[in-house]
Amino acid sequence: AAKRAGGNRLHIFSDDMRVKVLERLDAEARLREALAGDPVESLPVWFQPIVSAATGEITGAEALVRMRAPSGEILGPGQFIPAAEETGLIVPLGEHVLRRAVHRLLEWGDQLGYVSVNVSPRQLAEVDFVPMLANLLAAHPELDPSRLVVEITETALLGFSVDVRERLEMIKALGVRIALDDFGTGYSSLTWLQSVPADVVKLDRSFVAGLSADPRKASIIQAVLWLARSLGMSVVAEGVEDPADWEALRELDCPSAQGYLFGKPAPADEFGAKLRRAVKQAA
Ligand code: C2E
Ligand code: MG
Ligand code: MG
Ligand code: MG
Repeated sequence: AAKRAGGNRLHIFSDDMRVKVLERLDAEARLREALAGDPVESLPVWFQPIVSAATGEITGAEALVRMRAPSGEILGPGQFIPAAEETGLIVPLGEHVLRRAVHRLLEWGDQLGYVSVNVSPRQLAEVDFVPMLANLLAAHPELDPSRLVVEITETALLGFSVDVRERLEMIKALGVRIALDDFGTGYSSLTWLQSVPADVVKLDRSFVAGLSADPRKASIIQAVLWLARSLGMSVVAEGVEDPADWEALRELDCPSAQGYLFGKPAPADEFGAKLRRAVKQAA
């Protein structure tokens, strides 16, 4: 309509933009419907293993949300998280993911150490976030809060006016742990490391992929490992696909890793079955 109003002189929307806007509106409508209906069914939370370098065992998992379209098709977060962020629907969506994560932590008990949950900047900026988390934990006194890890990204936090550090301190005061996601991709990673009270650093896939063939990557990882260790933080290498990279990571004493080499994100039932098989094998 904007295009027509200006005749041929003014092209406010290109066709590409128009398609994007329509896709965004569609994602928003679907998300609204999913949250109002049966989010457990339509917004399933999948899990990807995080393994220990020392034992090779699954010690934790990252919770990764999916959307089940009416057609049955499973959509990845890239297709609806941006719309959720823009509309604020990330707040109820994020709460749903946290609830599912806690539910599974209790279900899997001793079979799984921890679950790591992505928390978006918009969610963290919300005044109700910490009280919501506190209520969730209070409702499950049988859960050790340190089995829950909140993942935040550096870049994502720029531009928010809330005191991020203070908010993270409040989360830590609940006993929940904090991980810096996609570490190394931001503008001021070292400042971030210094100023944020994190327990875990998740080394971005871009540093990890091709590590075994690239001495420069190895040097950077070695330095981050050293830095994290001296700050009392643990490290998870993300996106490990290649056995040679995994070998190199172990040689550098990287404590843990996540990636397709160990398992792709899988529906909770499938992930649970994998855990039970692993426990049986160990026994
Ligand atoms: P992330 O937190 O960095 O999550 C890791 C992503 O890397 C996941 O993609 C995972 O499937 C993918 N990945 C893991 N191992 C490998 C590997 O070996 N190779 C490759 N190529 N990729 C690997 P996914 O599930 O599509 O999630 C993408 C992003 O969406 C996440 O990045 C996170 O930022 C966001 N996200 C996912 N779930 C949630 C959620 O519940 N809340 C919020 N706020 N964001 C979420
Ligand atoms: Mg993450
Ligand atoms: Mg990540
Ligand atoms: Mg990453």
